[in-house]
Amino acid sequence: MNSFVCKNCGRTVSLIAPGTKNRNHCPFCLYSVHVDEAKGDRKSPCGGLMVPIGRFYKPDGEEVIVHRCGKCGFVRWNRVAGDDSFDLVAKLPVVDKKDYL
Ligand SMILES: [Zn+2]
Ligand SMILES: [Zn+2]
Repeated sequence: MNSFVCKNCGRTVSLIAPGTKNRNHCPFCLYSVHVDEAKGDRKSPCGGLMVPIGRFYKPDGEEVIVHRCGKCGFVRWNRVAGDDSFDLVAKLPVVDKKDYL
């Protein structure tokens, strides 16, 4: 499977993303879905919509987006992909990385 349909905005998203090996959020609206317990394991039964709530820069300078699950409250961060909506990313509040790393 090379694409998925975004549960938030309904657009078809290619899994091939510049700058990241594994696309986990929609580049158009930045929403994601809670499918992982640990990164990439696809083991969570939750399936809730992961809402983008903020962004921060890792110590190595890479920008990441913080997502929180609207269903269970699970929080995780994800790398920004090269084709993510730049405007939407820029509008996210910058949060304190100490709370997440
Ligand atoms: Zn979307
Ligand atoms: Zn969840």
